Amino acid sequence: MSENKIPYKIYLSEDEMPASWYNLRADMKNKPAPLLNPGTGQPMTASELEGVFCKELVQQELDNDTAYFAIPQEIRDFYKMYRPSPLVRAYCLEEKLQTPAKIYYKFEGNNTSGSHKLNSAIAQAYYAKKQGLKGVTTETGAGQWGTALSMACGYLGLDCRVFMVKCSYEQKPFRREVMKVYGSSVTPSPSETTNVGRKILAEFPGTTGSLGCAISEAVETAVSNPGYRYVLGSVLNQVLLHQSVIGLESKIAMDKYGVKPDIIIGCAGGGSNLGGLIAPFMGEKLRGEADYRFIAVEPASCPSFTRGKYAYDFCDTGMVCPLAKMYTLGSSFMPSADHAGGLRFHGMSSILSQLYADGYMEAVSVQQTDVFAAAEEFARVEGILPAPESSHAILAAVNEAKRCKETGEEKTILFGLTGTGYFDLVAYEKFHSGEMNSVIPTDEDIARSLAQLPKV
Ligand SMILES: *Cc1c(COP(=O)(O)O)cnc(C)c1O
Repeated sequence: MSENKIPYKIYLSEDEMPASWYNLRADMKNKPAPLLNPGTGQPMTASELEGVFCKELVQQELDNDTAYFAIPQEIRDFYKMYRPSPLVRAYCLEEKLQTPAKIYYKFEGNNTSGSHKLNSAIAQAYYAKKQGLKGVTTETGAGQWGTALSMACGYLGLDCRVFMVKCSYEQKPFRREVMKVYGSSVTPSPSETTNVGRKILAEFPGTTGSLGCAISEAVETAVSNPGYRYVLGSVLNQVLLHQSVIGLESKIAMDKYGVKPDIIIGCAGGGSNLGGLIAPFMGEKLRGEADYRFIAVEPASCPSFTRGKYAYDFCDTGMVCPLAKMYTLGSSFMPSADHAGGLRFHGMSSILSQLYADGYMEAVSVQQTDVFAAAEEFARVEGILPAPESSHAILAAVNEAKRCKETGEEKTILFGLTGTGYFDLVAYEKFHSGEMNSVIPTDEDIARSLAQLPKV
């Protein structure tokens, strides 16, 4: 098909939507390292994990060999409310940049929660419901994951208890209220409802909370209430599996028009959208069928890939969760108050970490003010108000397109536009007023938290 026939937005029909998720681990020669029990140092068994997570999700978590998992019909029906998501050719951005590069983005912000997180939220809620559970618990920082999970649980009639970091609960009322619209209970963390919360409040009465503390409260609530399990919105293998729907749809749409990306770019917090976007393309690369460049983009304020260490570490600050082998800055690392809340995790998916260690992927870190400048440039020509997290990928794509302009190469770039920024306007305000800065941790800061890595 000739180049100028490619529509501005490529929409697939419902029938063209993928029927299965793709498990990238099946094609990895070096499998991601297993989760370890912090008490025994041994790999977590299914029965240990089933105390915290839903049964079927535990199977997905531990399965390194099954390439495809059929997407249950109920989940496909839910996906149809907002999927397939559009693959957009960024003609206006190309024009603005005067680049010979062709730029595509996969837009995941077309749902009320405003991000890709809904793709896994509905899957996790579905398996909890199927297991006959009453409800699920989780934590949320800025609120994207809590909002997505609330929508999924509201749809399925499942109880959803969200522990929201207290400072966000007080300063960001919008997502909090959206969660309540969908029927969730939202508790500011630390709270008086858990042992760990009461202990922290007694010790630090004025604390505004942290993600690590909210995780500990959510896990305690799940394990101490019959019929409840804990769910997590990123990092885990199962989450990357569900997010493969992003990459599969992208690949189907591109194949339909005979387009092959040269460079695939995504922002990386815990790695779920990036892992999902690259999955089928990385599969081809691992099987030796095609070659692509993959670029993870992280904030300079929380640079797990580019400045972290590949080691076993706790997933939470409270050190109650299993140990994961990943690129990490140390579970005690406290990133500066960066506005890309979704990219503040100290570690990275074990799958992506192994691929990065094996040289299949690249990573770059970018500074916050540059990210917001790229976000505005993008909003003005492409119309969409991007989430700060997503704008990390925009900046990296723009940088690659500018390089093409210098070299004259007509590369095809695909990037993940993970969400919208309507709830992030305080951050945009800080950018406009010049109050925003790009805080970069010193080598000493990182060395200090890495010195506390658990000995495995
Ligand atoms: C949570 C979030 C991210 C980062 O999470 P990953 O698991 O790394 O994908 C990126 N973009 C948006 C809009 C988010 O809400």
